[in-house]
Amino acid sequence: MTIDHDKLTRLARMVAGTRPDELMCDQVMDVICAYFEAVESGAQLTPEQQAIARHLEACPECVETFHGLCDACREPGPDDS
Ligand SMILES: [Zn+2]
Repeated sequence: MTIDHDKLTRLARMVAGTRPDELMCDQVMDVICAYFEAVESGAQLTPEQQAIARHLEACPECVETFHGLCDACREPGPDDS
């Protein structure tokens, strides 16, 4: 049984492209509020939230969004006195 090079390359690409812990930015944005709440409350992170943490380590754009969210949540609102 032989595997031709073409198949092998495709397989390698497929594996590299489907790492289960690798999220896209828009996936992170979808759940970043829940992630923020989990971090703030000191709750144990779900595997998905751990994947977000890893994404934030590698993605400055999402970190910026996350920090913006933190500031928005920490700043006392007008009704909050
Ligand atoms: Zn990102």
